[in-house]
Amino acid sequence: MHARTCAKQLDTIYVFAIDSLRTAETARPMAKDPEISHISRGARAGASFGQHRSWSFFLVLLLFCVGCSKVRDSHELLHSLLWMHTSAEYHTLSVMTYQQAGDALDRALLDRRATASLEQTGDFQHLPPAVILDLDETVLDNSPFEARLMAQRTTFNQPMWEQWVQEASAQAVPGVLDFIAAARKKGVTVFFVSNRRAHQESSTRRNLEKLGIPLPTDLDTLLLEGESPFRWPPNKSSRRRYLAERYRILLLIGDDLGDFVDGARDKPEQRIALAGHHDHRWGRSWFLLPNPMYGTWETSLTPPSLTEAQKLSFKLLLLREAQ
Ligand SMILES: [Mg+2]
Repeated sequence: MHARTCAKQLDTIYVFAIDSLRTAETARPMAKDPEISHISRGARAGASFGQHRSWSFFLVLLLFCVGCSKVRDSHELLHSLLWMHTSAEYHTLSVMTYQQAGDALDRALLDRRATASLEQTGDFQHLPPAVILDLDETVLDNSPFEARLMAQRTTFNQPMWEQWVQEASAQAVPGVLDFIAAARKKGVTVFFVSNRRAHQESSTRRNLEKLGIPLPTDLDTLLLEGESPFRWPPNKSSRRRYLAERYRILLLIGDDLGDFVDGARDKPEQRIALAGHHDHRWGRSWFLLPNPMYGTWETSLTPPSLTEAQKLSFKLLLLREAQ
């Protein structure tokens, strides 16, 4: 089917599907049902989907039809990208986070019983102090790369990401340079645990050096996915455990739940429960940078087996939650 024809049909289906959602919601207001009022929003939506056959029909139809579209606008990225790239609010949140992390660092240095790592056990009081930072959207600002994706009407893909990493031209996230300089001045080793791939190490080092963050040559402080000899998996807990056996981990800083704890790839309601379980750590030993552009928060919304176009239509159906 021609892409333009298909896109027109999709528009019609979207409008019809959203209207049908509103109608179904009006006919049966799930949130007012005391039997299910305790169920999480995500579970409630899932239960509702199952109970409206007309819904299921439109969902299947929608997912089938979007599969034929060859053009995929990534317009859902627009506001989050512009917010991170242009807003004073994002700048302020980042600076605020790093300033508060700097204060927490001073407190943790004085309290030898303190550790930020769930993987840290045993007698760690006399280990040298260290902090663990993620890289992308924690130290390195990749919003220009995201802008390229939008300009080319595509989504994340490895060739474009490789090109961007090789350029080594990412700017620093606001506030991070002062934080790293202050930590190093206090004798704290700064480790970077990132899911950039092992073969991207030299260009990543080059990028950090350009920003005034040279890495030591006698110690590997950049632990990337797949790196020898450990072949680190995407899950970061094994790298945190490795460092926690050698250093007392004062702080964890990242932009994704997976930078702190296992379970980031679970469903949204499970992720929120997991984050809530650690509320006493946030802003004290765990510091989270905002990233509305991408992350496990977004990949957990849809089944991974769907195509990009199907994921977009699936997300549009989640609009029901907001109405
Ligand atoms: Mg990151």
